[in-house]
Amino acid sequence: MSVKENIQNILSELKGKKVELVAVTKTQTVSVIKEAYDTGHKIFGENKAQELAEKREELPEDIEWHMIGHLQTNKVKMIVPFVKLIQSVDSLHLLKEINKEAEKIDRIVDCLLQIKIAKEETKYGLDVAEAVNILQSPEFEKMDFIRIAGIMGMATLTEDEQIIRSEFKHLHHYFNLIKDQFFRDRTHFKEISMGMSGDYKIAIEEGTTMVRIGSLIFGERN
Ligand SMILES: *Cc1c(COP(=O)(O)O)cnc(C)c1O
Repeated sequence: MSVKENIQNILSELKGKKVELVAVTKTQTVSVIKEAYDTGHKIFGENKAQELAEKREELPEDIEWHMIGHLQTNKVKMIVPFVKLIQSVDSLHLLKEINKEAEKIDRIVDCLLQIKIAKEETKYGLDVAEAVNILQSPEFEKMDFIRIAGIMGMATLTEDEQIIRSEFKHLHHYFNLIKDQFFRDRTHFKEISMGMSGDYKIAIEEGTTMVRIGSLIFGERN
């Protein structure tokens, strides 16, 4: 199956469900990404700031680029001028840096807080208590150039569907808690980004609003 067919198949599965597809282009070449773009799809995600900035230069301007991987503070300014959504905010320190760079260019940047739901130690992300602490902090209150649009999470890499489902349920629950406590009347706090190639069907059943899919579209990465 071609990249085009893969995207069309996924989009037809998502149809009518209010779930957005972020096509994850990490490690893919510009020409392969162009093939995906030519289907009419315009939402792409990368996990490295440098690659994101470089690919953006070479591809059409109307692509909505999402940052989905761990972001180092010294790379923030590379992507702040154009990034559509930073999905992987995992510290107050990073949020401060994004706000600082965004203020310089007078641009409000949409961000998701990445919440740790998996068992693996290696995964980046905040505990829900840490996320709450950030949102309660006086520093956050002063950040006029950040808009928190929701939360993101990655499930454990496992064949065990029950584990994945339970982690997604947790994320959905955290979304409701945070929404109630901090964003009750804010319509822009609406995203639950969960689900990848191996688990997006479970994520849909558990209320995702955004799936991030790479290998199912582009094939296995090396
Ligand atoms: C690579 C990646 C994905 C996509 O993974 P696939 O299994 O290839 O669909 C999704 N989210 C994040 C944060 C990633 O780094």
